[in-house]
Amino acid sequence: MFWNEKMETLQPDALAALQLERLKQTVHAVGSVDIYRNKMKEAGITVSDIKSLDDLTKLPFTKKQELRDGYPFGFFAVPRNKVVRIHTTSGTTGKPTVVGYTRGDLDHWSELIARNMTMIGLNADDVFQNMVNYGMFTGGLGFHYGAERIGMTVIPSATGNTRRQIEMMQDFGVTAIHCTPSYAMHLAEAAEELGATFDALKTGIFGAEPWSETMRKELEMKLQVTSYDSYGLSELYGPGVAFECPEREGLHIWHDMYLTEIIDPKTGEQLGPGERGELVVTPLVKEAMPLLRYRTGDVTMLLEDECACGRGLKIARIMGRSDDMLVIRGINVFPSQIEHVLLSLPEVGNHFMVYVDRVNHLDEMTIDVEINRNFFSGELKDLAHIQKKVVKELRNALELRTTVRLVEPGTLPRFEGKAKRVVDRRGLM
Ligand SMILES: [Zn+2]
Repeated sequence: MFWNEKMETLQPDALAALQLERLKQTVHAVGSVDIYRNKMKEAGITVSDIKSLDDLTKLPFTKKQELRDGYPFGFFAVPRNKVVRIHTTSGTTGKPTVVGYTRGDLDHWSELIARNMTMIGLNADDVFQNMVNYGMFTGGLGFHYGAERIGMTVIPSATGNTRRQIEMMQDFGVTAIHCTPSYAMHLAEAAEELGATFDALKTGIFGAEPWSETMRKELEMKLQVTSYDSYGLSELYGPGVAFECPEREGLHIWHDMYLTEIIDPKTGEQLGPGERGELVVTPLVKEAMPLLRYRTGDVTMLLEDECACGRGLKIARIMGRSDDMLVIRGINVFPSQIEHVLLSLPEVGNHFMVYVDRVNHLDEMTIDVEINRNFFSGELKDLAHIQKKVVKELRNALELRTTVRLVEPGTLPRFEGKAKRVVDRRGLM
Protein backbone atom coordinates (compact mmCIF):
# COMPACT_ATOMS: atom_id res chain seq x y z
CA MET A 1 0.00 0.00 0.00
CA PHE A 2 2.82 2.39 0.83
CA TRP A 3 6.35 2.69 -0.44
CA ASN A 4 7.79 -0.16 1.57
CA GLU A 5 5.64 -2.70 -0.16
CA LYS A 6 5.47 -1.03 -3.57
CA MET A 7 9.08 -0.01 -4.11
CA GLU A 8 10.69 -3.21 -2.95
CA THR A 9 9.20 -4.99 -5.94
CA LEU A 10 10.59 -2.34 -8.31
CA GLN A 11 13.84 -3.56 -9.91
CA PRO A 12 16.59 -0.96 -10.63
CA ASP A 13 15.84 -0.99 -14.38
CA ALA A 14 12.15 -0.40 -13.80
CA LEU A 15 12.94 2.43 -11.39
CA ALA A 16 15.28 4.10 -13.90
CA ALA A 17 12.61 3.81 -16.61
CA LEU A 18 10.04 5.39 -14.32
CA GLN A 19 12.45 8.21 -13.41
CA LEU A 20 13.20 8.92 -17.07
CA GLU A 21 9.53 8.97 -18.01
CA ARG A 22 8.76 11.35 -15.15
CA LEU A 23 11.78 13.55 -15.95
CA LYS A 24 10.50 13.96 -19.52
CA GLN A 25 7.04 14.83 -18.19
CA THR A 26 8.59 17.43 -15.90
CA VAL A 27 10.64 19.00 -18.70
CA HIS A 28 7.48 19.11 -20.79
CA ALA A 29 5.51 20.65 -17.91
CA VAL A 30 7.94 23.53 -17.30
CA GLY A 31 7.33 24.53 -20.92
CA SER A 32 4.24 26.41 -19.77
CA VAL A 33 6.31 28.60 -17.43
CA ASP A 34 7.71 31.69 -19.22
CA ILE A 35 10.83 31.80 -17.05
CA TYR A 36 11.68 28.18 -17.87
CA ARG A 37 10.83 28.55 -21.55
CA ASN A 38 13.48 31.28 -21.73
CA LYS A 39 16.00 29.27 -19.71
CA MET A 40 15.52 26.22 -21.95
CA LYS A 41 15.88 28.35 -25.07
CA GLU A 42 19.09 29.85 -23.69
CA ALA A 43 20.43 26.36 -22.94
CA GLY A 44 19.33 25.27 -26.42
CA ILE A 45 17.47 22.21 -25.15
CA THR A 46 14.02 20.68 -25.72
CA VAL A 47 12.16 17.67 -24.32
CA SER A 48 13.45 15.52 -27.21
CA ASP A 49 17.04 16.03 -25.98
CA ILE A 50 16.25 14.05 -22.81
CA LYS A 51 17.00 10.48 -23.90
CA SER A 52 18.55 9.08 -20.73
CA LEU A 53 18.91 10.08 -17.09
CA ASP A 54 22.46 11.28 -17.88
CA ASP A 55 20.89 14.07 -19.93
CA LEU A 56 19.80 15.65 -16.66
CA THR A 57 23.06 17.61 -16.66
CA LYS A 58 22.00 19.38 -19.87
CA LEU A 59 19.15 21.05 -17.98
CA PRO A 60 19.59 24.46 -16.34
CA PHE A 61 19.73 24.87 -12.56
CA THR A 62 17.03 26.75 -10.67
CA LYS A 63 18.10 29.07 -7.86
CA LYS A 64 16.10 30.34 -4.92
CA GLN A 65 16.59 33.92 -6.08
CA GLU A 66 14.84 33.08 -9.36
CA LEU A 67 11.83 31.78 -7.44
CA ARG A 68 11.77 35.04 -5.50
CA ASP A 69 11.94 37.01 -8.74
CA GLY A 70 8.90 35.08 -9.97
CA TYR A 71 6.79 36.35 -7.04
CA PRO A 72 3.97 35.63 -6.64
CA PHE A 73 2.81 33.08 -9.26
CA GLY A 74 5.54 33.26 -11.93
CA PHE A 75 6.49 29.58 -11.56
CA PHE A 76 3.00 28.10 -11.69
CA ALA A 77 2.69 25.62 -14.57
CA VAL A 78 -1.08 25.19 -14.24
CA PRO A 79 -3.98 27.68 -14.33
CA ARG A 80 -4.57 29.30 -10.95
CA ASN A 81 -7.95 27.54 -10.55
CA LYS A 82 -6.10 24.20 -10.40
CA VAL A 83 -4.05 25.40 -7.42
CA VAL A 84 -5.82 24.32 -4.23
CA ARG A 85 -3.30 25.55 -1.66
CA ILE A 86 -0.45 27.98 -1.25
CA HIS A 87 2.42 27.93 1.20
CA THR A 88 5.24 30.46 1.44
CA THR A 89 8.76 30.17 2.72
CA SER A 90 9.88 32.76 5.21
CA GLY A 91 12.06 35.28 3.44
CA THR A 92 14.66 36.87 5.70
CA THR A 93 14.57 39.93 3.44
CA GLY A 94 11.94 41.11 0.98
CA LYS A 95 9.15 38.97 -0.43
CA PRO A 96 8.82 35.30 0.47
CA THR A 97 8.82 32.45 -2.06
CA VAL A 98 5.37 31.20 -3.02
CA VAL A 99 4.74 27.48 -3.51
CA GLY A 100 1.49 26.23 -5.07
CA TYR A 101 -0.10 22.77 -4.83
CA THR A 102 -2.65 21.00 -7.00
CA ARG A 103 -4.86 18.29 -5.53
CA GLY A 104 -2.43 15.77 -7.03
CA ASP A 105 0.51 17.50 -5.33
CA LEU A 106 -1.18 17.30 -1.93
CA ASP A 107 -1.81 13.63 -2.58
CA HIS A 108 1.84 12.92 -3.44
CA TRP A 109 3.06 14.93 -0.49
CA SER A 110 0.87 13.02 1.96
CA GLU A 111 2.10 9.77 0.48
CA LEU A 112 5.72 10.80 1.05
CA ILE A 113 5.06 11.51 4.72
CA ALA A 114 3.04 8.29 5.02
CA ARG A 115 5.98 6.32 3.57
CA ASN A 116 8.40 7.93 6.03
CA MET A 117 6.23 7.15 9.00
CA THR A 118 5.53 3.60 7.83
CA MET A 119 9.28 3.11 7.34
CA ILE A 120 9.98 3.84 11.03
CA GLY A 121 7.22 1.52 12.19
CA LEU A 122 4.39 3.95 12.93
CA ASN A 123 0.81 2.94 12.14
CA ALA A 124 -2.86 3.33 13.10
CA ASP A 125 -2.13 2.25 16.67
CA ASP A 126 -0.02 5.36 17.24
CA VAL A 127 -1.06 8.68 18.76
CA PHE A 128 0.83 11.52 17.10
CA GLN A 129 1.27 15.04 18.49
CA ASN A 130 2.39 17.50 15.81
CA MET A 131 4.09 20.34 17.67
CA VAL A 132 5.02 22.66 14.81
CA ASN A 133 3.53 25.79 13.27
CA TYR A 134 0.36 25.11 11.27
CA GLY A 135 0.45 28.33 9.25
CA MET A 136 2.31 29.02 6.02
CA PHE A 137 5.15 26.79 7.27
CA THR A 138 4.83 23.39 5.57
CA GLY A 139 5.79 21.27 8.60
CA GLY A 140 2.33 21.47 10.19
CA LEU A 141 -0.14 20.52 7.47
CA GLY A 142 2.46 18.34 5.69
CA PHE A 143 2.89 15.94 8.60
CA HIS A 144 -0.76 16.26 9.60
CA TYR A 145 -2.19 14.81 6.40
CA GLY A 146 0.55 12.20 6.02
CA ALA A 147 -0.11 10.90 9.53
CA GLU A 148 -3.86 10.83 8.96
CA ARG A 149 -3.32 8.87 5.77
CA ILE A 150 -1.86 5.92 7.69
CA GLY A 151 -4.64 6.20 10.23
CA MET A 152 -2.69 7.59 13.16
CA THR A 153 -4.61 9.54 15.79
CA VAL A 154 -3.38 13.07 15.11
CA ILE A 155 -3.25 15.85 17.69
CA PRO A 156 -2.70 19.15 15.84
CA SER A 157 -1.33 20.88 18.92
CA ALA A 158 0.90 23.30 16.93
CA THR A 159 3.43 25.37 18.88
CA GLY A 160 3.39 27.13 22.22
CA ASN A 161 2.01 26.53 25.72
CA THR A 162 4.50 23.84 26.65
CA ARG A 163 2.72 22.94 29.90
CA ARG A 164 -0.48 22.17 27.95
CA GLN A 165 1.55 20.20 25.37
CA ILE A 166 2.99 18.06 28.17
CA GLU A 167 -0.47 17.51 29.66
CA MET A 168 -1.88 16.34 26.32
CA MET A 169 1.06 14.02 25.74
CA GLN A 170 0.33 12.38 29.08
CA ASP A 171 -3.47 12.38 28.99
CA PHE A 172 -3.80 11.17 25.38
CA GLY A 173 -1.06 8.53 25.61
CA VAL A 174 1.02 10.10 22.83
CA THR A 175 3.45 7.61 21.26
CA ALA A 176 5.09 9.84 18.63
CA ILE A 177 5.91 13.52 18.38
CA HIS A 178 7.14 15.84 15.64
CA CYS A 179 8.86 19.15 16.38
CA THR A 180 12.11 21.04 15.86
CA PRO A 181 15.07 19.64 17.82
CA SER A 182 15.37 22.90 19.73
CA TYR A 183 11.72 22.76 20.81
CA ALA A 184 12.18 19.11 21.80
CA MET A 185 15.01 20.20 24.09
CA HIS A 186 12.81 22.92 25.60
CA LEU A 187 10.00 20.40 26.06
CA ALA A 188 12.34 17.90 27.74
CA GLU A 189 13.64 20.52 30.16
CA ALA A 190 10.12 21.76 30.99
CA ALA A 191 9.02 18.16 31.64
CA GLU A 192 12.04 17.63 33.87
CA GLU A 193 11.12 20.71 35.93
CA LEU A 194 7.53 19.52 36.30
CA GLY A 195 8.66 16.00 37.10
CA ALA A 196 6.52 14.80 34.16
CA THR A 197 7.26 11.52 32.39
CA PHE A 198 5.86 10.17 29.12
CA ASP A 199 5.22 6.48 29.55
CA ALA A 200 3.70 5.81 26.11
CA LEU A 201 6.15 7.95 24.10
CA LYS A 202 8.58 6.01 21.87
CA THR A 203 9.28 8.03 18.71
CA GLY A 204 10.58 11.55 18.13
CA ILE A 205 10.69 13.01 14.60
CA PHE A 206 12.85 16.12 14.53
CA GLY A 207 13.53 18.41 11.60
CA ALA A 208 13.43 21.89 10.03
CA GLU A 209 16.83 22.78 11.48
CA PRO A 210 20.22 21.01 11.50
CA TRP A 211 21.06 19.08 14.67
CA SER A 212 24.03 17.03 15.83
CA GLU A 213 24.58 13.48 17.07
CA THR A 214 25.37 14.95 20.50
CA MET A 215 21.94 16.57 20.57
CA ARG A 216 20.38 13.29 19.45
CA LYS A 217 21.89 11.43 22.38
CA GLU A 218 20.74 14.08 24.82
CA LEU A 219 17.18 14.21 23.46
CA GLU A 220 16.87 10.43 23.43
CA MET A 221 18.05 10.22 27.01
CA LYS A 222 15.82 13.01 28.30
CA LEU A 223 12.65 12.02 26.40
CA GLN A 224 13.25 8.26 26.27
CA VAL A 225 12.58 8.13 22.53
CA THR A 226 14.16 6.80 19.38
CA SER A 227 14.68 9.87 17.19
CA TYR A 228 14.63 10.32 13.42
CA ASP A 229 15.93 13.16 11.29
CA SER A 230 13.48 14.59 8.78
CA TYR A 231 14.53 16.79 5.84
CA GLY A 232 12.57 18.78 3.36
CA LEU A 233 11.95 22.23 2.01
CA SER A 234 8.81 24.00 0.87
CA GLU A 235 10.04 24.42 -2.71
CA LEU A 236 10.01 20.57 -2.92
CA TYR A 237 6.55 20.29 -1.18
CA GLY A 238 7.86 20.55 2.39
CA PRO A 239 8.97 17.82 4.82
CA GLY A 240 9.20 14.31 3.39
CA VAL A 241 12.04 14.75 0.87
CA ALA A 242 14.50 12.66 2.89
CA PHE A 243 14.13 10.74 6.12
CA GLU A 244 16.12 8.42 8.34
CA CYS A 245 15.26 4.73 8.28
CA PRO A 246 15.58 2.57 11.42
CA GLU A 247 19.34 2.22 10.73
CA ARG A 248 19.68 5.97 11.34
CA GLU A 249 22.91 6.31 9.38
CA GLY A 250 21.88 8.80 6.74
CA LEU A 251 18.63 9.85 5.10
CA HIS A 252 16.83 8.09 2.26
CA ILE A 253 15.47 10.06 -0.66
CA TRP A 254 12.41 8.81 -2.51
CA HIS A 255 13.83 8.05 -5.95
CA ASP A 256 10.54 7.71 -7.73
CA MET A 257 9.65 11.28 -6.72
CA TYR A 258 13.02 13.07 -6.63
CA LEU A 259 16.23 12.92 -8.68
CA THR A 260 19.23 13.74 -6.51
CA GLU A 261 22.60 15.26 -7.40
CA ILE A 262 25.46 16.64 -5.33
CA ILE A 263 27.36 19.45 -7.07
CA ASP A 264 30.34 21.65 -6.42
CA PRO A 265 28.54 24.91 -5.56
CA LYS A 266 31.20 27.01 -7.31
CA THR A 267 31.51 25.12 -10.62
CA GLY A 268 28.17 23.27 -10.86
CA GLU A 269 30.01 20.00 -11.63
CA GLN A 270 28.46 16.78 -10.30
CA LEU A 271 30.33 15.17 -7.39
CA GLY A 272 30.57 11.48 -6.52
CA PRO A 273 29.69 9.56 -3.35
CA GLY A 274 31.69 10.71 -0.32
CA GLU A 275 32.29 14.17 -1.78
CA ARG A 276 30.79 17.07 0.08
CA GLY A 277 28.77 19.59 -1.92
CA GLU A 278 25.40 21.21 -2.54
CA LEU A 279 22.26 19.09 -2.75
CA VAL A 280 20.39 19.60 -6.03
CA VAL A 281 16.96 18.03 -6.44
CA THR A 282 14.68 17.64 -9.44
CA PRO A 283 11.17 16.76 -8.26
CA LEU A 284 9.56 14.24 -10.62
CA VAL A 285 5.86 14.44 -9.78
CA LYS A 286 5.18 18.11 -9.02
CA GLU A 287 2.27 19.57 -10.95
CA ALA A 288 1.56 23.15 -9.84
CA MET A 289 5.20 24.13 -9.61
CA PRO A 290 7.58 21.73 -11.38
CA LEU A 291 11.25 22.63 -10.93
CA LEU A 292 14.43 21.67 -12.78
CA ARG A 293 17.60 20.94 -10.79
CA TYR A 294 16.65 23.01 -7.77
CA ARG A 295 19.71 24.20 -5.82
CA THR A 296 18.77 23.69 -2.19
CA GLY A 297 21.81 25.54 -0.80
CA ASP A 298 22.19 22.68 1.71
CA VAL A 299 25.53 20.90 2.02
CA THR A 300 25.66 17.13 2.29
CA MET A 301 27.08 14.15 0.40
CA LEU A 302 25.92 10.88 -1.08
CA LEU A 303 26.97 8.04 1.19
CA GLU A 304 29.11 5.38 -0.44
CA ASP A 305 27.54 2.27 1.01
CA GLU A 306 24.10 0.85 0.40
CA CYS A 307 21.97 0.92 3.52
CA ALA A 308 21.56 -2.26 5.56
CA CYS A 309 17.78 -1.77 5.30
CA GLY A 310 18.00 -2.38 1.53
CA ARG A 311 16.43 0.92 0.48
CA GLY A 312 19.47 2.03 -1.54
CA LEU A 313 21.02 5.46 -1.84
CA LYS A 314 21.29 7.77 1.15
CA ILE A 315 22.51 11.27 1.88
CA ALA A 316 24.38 12.29 5.03
CA ARG A 317 22.71 14.62 7.50
CA ILE A 318 22.78 18.27 6.36
CA MET A 319 26.09 19.86 7.31
CA GLY A 320 25.38 23.51 6.61
CA ARG A 321 24.76 26.00 3.82
CA SER A 322 26.72 26.14 0.58
CA ASP A 323 26.87 29.95 0.83
CA ASP A 324 29.34 29.43 3.67
CA MET A 325 31.80 27.45 1.53
CA LEU A 326 35.38 28.72 1.29
CA VAL A 327 37.83 27.85 -1.45
CA ILE A 328 41.31 27.62 0.07
CA ARG A 329 44.14 26.85 -2.37
CA GLY A 330 41.59 25.16 -4.61
CA ILE A 331 40.10 22.99 -1.85
CA ASN A 332 36.48 23.41 -0.75
CA VAL A 333 36.17 23.96 2.99
CA PHE A 334 32.97 24.29 4.97
CA PRO A 335 33.07 25.90 8.43
CA SER A 336 30.91 22.99 9.61
CA GLN A 337 33.88 20.65 8.91
CA ILE A 338 36.10 22.71 11.20
CA GLU A 339 33.41 22.76 13.87
CA HIS A 340 33.02 19.00 13.58
CA VAL A 341 36.75 18.41 14.16
CA LEU A 342 36.90 20.80 17.12
CA LEU A 343 33.84 19.25 18.77
CA SER A 344 35.52 15.86 18.63
CA LEU A 345 38.55 17.13 20.60
CA PRO A 346 37.92 17.39 24.36
CA GLU A 347 40.97 19.65 24.83
CA VAL A 348 39.34 22.59 23.04
CA GLY A 349 36.04 24.43 23.48
CA ASN A 350 33.49 24.90 20.70
CA HIS A 351 34.27 28.59 20.15
CA PHE A 352 36.50 29.39 17.20
CA MET A 353 37.22 32.04 14.58
CA VAL A 354 38.56 31.47 11.07
CA TYR A 355 40.65 34.09 9.25
CA VAL A 356 41.50 33.74 5.57
CA ASP A 357 44.31 35.84 4.07
CA ARG A 358 46.33 35.89 0.88
CA VAL A 359 50.05 35.88 1.62
CA ASN A 360 52.47 35.97 -1.33
CA HIS A 361 49.60 34.97 -3.65
CA LEU A 362 48.77 31.93 -1.48
CA ASP A 363 45.63 31.43 0.62
CA GLU A 364 46.37 31.06 4.31
CA MET A 365 43.83 29.94 6.87
CA THR A 366 44.32 30.77 10.53
CA ILE A 367 42.01 29.35 13.16
CA ASP A 368 41.75 30.76 16.68
CA VAL A 369 40.46 28.12 19.08
CA GLU A 370 39.57 28.49 22.75
CA ILE A 371 41.21 25.96 25.00
CA ASN A 372 38.87 23.97 27.26
CA ARG A 373 38.98 25.36 30.81
CA ASN A 374 39.75 21.89 32.22
CA PHE A 375 42.94 21.67 30.16
CA PHE A 376 44.10 25.22 30.89
CA SER A 377 46.72 25.71 33.59
CA GLY A 378 47.06 29.45 33.03
CA GLU A 379 49.98 29.22 30.62
CA LEU A 380 49.26 28.93 26.89
CA LYS A 381 52.88 27.96 26.16
CA ASP A 382 52.37 24.66 28.03
CA LEU A 383 49.86 23.60 25.39
CA ALA A 384 52.06 23.02 22.34
CA HIS A 385 51.09 19.33 22.21
CA ILE A 386 47.38 20.23 22.03
CA GLN A 387 48.05 22.81 19.32
CA LYS A 388 49.87 20.14 17.27
CA LYS A 389 47.02 17.70 17.75
CA VAL A 390 44.42 20.23 16.52
CA VAL A 391 46.53 21.02 13.43
CA LYS A 392 46.89 17.32 12.66
CA GLU A 393 43.19 16.53 13.07
CA LEU A 394 42.24 19.50 10.88
CA ARG A 395 44.74 18.43 8.22
CA ASN A 396 43.24 14.92 8.17
CA ALA A 397 39.70 16.23 7.82
CA LEU A 398 40.23 19.16 5.45
CA GLU A 399 43.29 17.87 3.57
CA LEU A 400 44.70 21.31 4.19
CA ARG A 401 47.48 22.80 6.30
CA THR A 402 46.19 25.46 8.67
CA THR A 403 47.68 27.70 11.34
CA VAL A 404 46.07 27.12 14.72
CA ARG A 405 46.34 29.61 17.59
CA LEU A 406 45.07 28.47 20.98
CA VAL A 407 43.52 31.29 23.00
CA GLU A 408 42.37 31.53 26.61
CA PRO A 409 38.86 30.38 27.53
CA GLY A 410 36.16 33.05 27.15
CA THR A 411 38.15 35.39 24.89
CA LEU A 412 36.54 34.81 21.47
CA PRO A 413 33.33 36.60 20.39
CA ARG A 414 29.97 35.05 21.31
CA PHE A 415 27.12 35.27 18.80
CA GLU A 416 23.41 35.62 19.29
CA GLY A 417 21.59 33.94 16.41
CA LYS A 418 23.65 33.03 13.35
CA ALA A 419 27.36 32.91 14.20
CA LYS A 420 29.83 34.77 11.96
CA ARG A 421 32.96 32.73 12.55
CA VAL A 422 34.69 33.34 9.22
CA VAL A 423 36.55 36.51 8.29
CA ASP A 424 37.72 36.35 4.67
CA ARG A 425 40.25 39.16 4.20
CA ARG A 426 41.44 38.15 0.73
CA GLY A 427 39.33 40.71 -1.11
CA LEU A 428 40.62 43.53 1.08
CA MET A 429 44.26 43.36 0.03
ZN1 LIG B 1 18.10 2.48 5.37
